Amino acid sequence: MARVKRRKPFAPRCRVCRTNRYVVPVVYGFVNDDLIEKEHQGLLKIGGVARMVEAPNWYCKECGNEFLR
Ligand SMILES: [Zn+2]
Repeated sequence: MARVKRRKPFAPRCRVCRTNRYVVPVVYGFVNDDLIEKEHQGLLKIGGVARMVEAPNWYCKECGNEFLR
């Protein structure tokens, strides 16, 4: 069975920009150099060590919008 390879992982659309082009996942937990490097590359956003119940999963780099899904 052939699997479709996608270079870009799934990301939901930003409701403000109406595209997922600038949306990156928010990462919680222990922060290491690898994560910091990826944040600098714009691949993700570091949300912090402690994760709140209603903490957003996604962050839009274009407009700064944060959302759950
Ligand atoms: Zn946006």
